[in-house]
Amino acid sequence: MPPDDATDGGSDADRLAPDEAFAVLGDETRMGILRALGDLDTPVPFSELYARSDADDSGGFNYHLDRMVGHFVERVDGGYRLAPAGRRVAEAVRSGAVTEQPELPMTEVEEPCPYCGAATRVRWRDGSVEQFCTGCAGRYGRRYRESGMPIEEVEGYLGRNPLPPAGVRGRSPTETLRAAWTWGELEILSLSAGVCPRCSGAVEWEPVVCEDHESDGGPCPTCGGRYTVGVRVACTNCILVAGGEPVVALAARTDLLALLAANGHNPIAPDDVHAVEQVHGAYEETVHAADPLRATYTFDLGGESVALTVDESLDVVETAWDEGAAQ
Ligand SMILES: [Zn+2]
Ligand SMILES: [Zn+2]
Ligand SMILES: [Zn+2]
Repeated sequence: MPPDDATDGGSDADRLAPDEAFAVLGDETRMGILRALGDLDTPVPFSELYARSDADDSGGFNYHLDRMVGHFVERVDGGYRLAPAGRRVAEAVRSGAVTEQPELPMTEVEEPCPYCGAATRVRWRDGSVEQFCTGCAGRYGRRYRESGMPIEEVEGYLGRNPLPPAGVRGRSPTETLRAAWTWGELEILSLSAGVCPRCSGAVEWEPVVCEDHESDGGPCPTCGGRYTVGVRVACTNCILVAGGEPVVALAARTDLLALLAANGHNPIAPDDVHAVEQVHGAYEETVHAADPLRATYTFDLGGESVALTVDESLDVVETAWDEGAAQ
């Protein structure tokens, strides 16, 4: 691969406004160039790129290629290759997120409900894989939009994990659910480290305390959750907004990772990610004060436990290990 300074792209002068950038892509030949370059590992000369296209006029093809050089495509020794912006577009197109609506209607999967052991069903909707229990009230009383606004009350809702359309292709419904767990866990780890998983910008956390919380293990009729405190997270740069339990802000804490690792759990191993999700979903919540928030979350595993006390920014202010039966 040529060194980075061999490129002729990336300077301030090459920067485009979003409308100009998308206008450059508004052409079949140019999208074909992006796809062709995305398939290649090494720079490709003009003649080969032209031969790979459906174009029948090299002058016209050259015109389209020229329009892309400097922003989506780089001219380097040996020909042309995708510039970073071109790679991002090619990746988004391949993920299917921009154009596809995969079909995964409600289907039973080989994963029992973690709460009652009954059969569960999944479907793909709005960019996520959603899971529902057929036997109990599930984990949440309602579905939420990405913006955190409630959509509808649903029975047995166990939650959802984002998954681009490409994640559904070639996988069984059970495999699709597992892929969504992995994808979701990676998002949570990134979010909990303060880095937006979509754009890499900084994220901000905010606790949301249910003032009328009532739960005897099932979802609360007021907030829809099993716990008094939820969180909202928003990216300071892009449009990402998400909600969940405070543990999603704590997932990347070394103490919590250590508790999992000491018990043989690996949050990014595909066979294990669901077990990790269950540890994350079954903790003891102690709210010391609602405003400003001070709460302790205790995670038990294999006879030992770790208690993380957080402040209103969900920063951990105290950590207590109890080795208990493990000693
Ligand atoms: Zn259930
Ligand atoms: Zn509540
Ligand atoms: Zn972002």
